[in-house]
Amino acid sequence: MNPIPNALCFGDGLPGVGAPCHVTVSADGLTMVPVGTSPLVEEAIAFADMSVEAGGLDHDQLVVSWGTGSSARTLYLKDPALIIAFRRAAPAELTAHLERAAVQVRRARHGHRLLWGSVLGVVFGLGLLLWFGTDLIVEWAVARIPIEWEQKLGESVYQDFLSKETVLKEGPAVSAVQEMTQRLTDKIRDNPYKFQISVVQSPVVNAFALPGGYVVVFTGLMTKAESGEEVAGVLSHELNHVLQRHGMERMVKMLGLAAVVGILLGDQQGLTGLAKQVGMELVTLKFGRAQETEADVTGIRLLSDARIAPDGMIRFFERLSEKDKARVEVFSTHPMSAGRAERLKAELAALPKRTPEPFTFQWKTIQDSLGVSDPKK
Ligand SMILES: [Zn+2]
Repeated sequence: MNPIPNALCFGDGLPGVGAPCHVTVSADGLTMVPVGTSPLVEEAIAFADMSVEAGGLDHDQLVVSWGTGSSARTLYLKDPALIIAFRRAAPAELTAHLERAAVQVRRARHGHRLLWGSVLGVVFGLGLLLWFGTDLIVEWAVARIPIEWEQKLGESVYQDFLSKETVLKEGPAVSAVQEMTQRLTDKIRDNPYKFQISVVQSPVVNAFALPGGYVVVFTGLMTKAESGEEVAGVLSHELNHVLQRHGMERMVKMLGLAAVVGILLGDQQGLTGLAKQVGMELVTLKFGRAQETEADVTGIRLLSDARIAPDGMIRFFERLSEKDKARVEVFSTHPMSAGRAERLKAELAALPKRTPEPFTFQWKTIQDSLGVSDPKK
């Protein structure tokens, strides 16, 4: 019979790593049977002859010692079932020792939990720091992305998108959007972008701007709007998302730490690869609340600088019924909360009064060209 070892025995003449043995508990003490080839001999140790303490690296073992001189032996018991059996069988005079040992074991385990607890705490804390500090880290990382990368990324998503859509090449709607864009971009100071605008034939009531300055206006927005100023309001807001690099910030946030590290290491290819993963998501990107407010405020100022009546967007929003608001894409990608609307109005009120200069086009002509029979609809 070759029993499974459940303890290690140490002592003179035994291997330094301990001799494996099988220990059983009896009414009088322990019986130790060597396992495998070992200089250890079978031995029965009476409870009266042994002392017990807690041991092992984790203090979760019972250390049983007996004998003196060259016959001194130390036995390490780690098997919990064996330890329990030992404590049950041991006489009262040993129990006190065992209780102390058990307390030590529990303390050691508690200490371990505390240690692991603090390790986890540090990891969790770092996580929290990253979470709450993300905006700062992201802004910092985005500031390190060259405009050329951003343009490359935006252009590839833009071309991809347009290839699946009907793009209006010319006509009153295209000229009108070009005129609005020109008026607005003329007033952008230190503009690093060459904005490109496309008008896409679609009932979608929206406009979006991709990183790098690629803007799409859907005819659905122009159909629903009652003036060029309303469209220009949305457009100015979109241009300002680009100028503030909000799309890049969202993208970096989506891609997470890998992108940040890539940017810091100047890993252009890695970033391009990562960007492909988000690709089309940029088109339906939902911005954060702070970003919306920023684009609103700078957007309204830009309209005012361009002498375009700056209340277009808020009028467009307020004219829509509650049902419309839920369906209109421009407000699902740029959620118009009550707070945001209030902020917009406050910003409008604070603007210096400037006499707006009308556009050269008649809005009715634009809508007619888009086949709108009743502009109130
Ligand atoms: Zn927005």
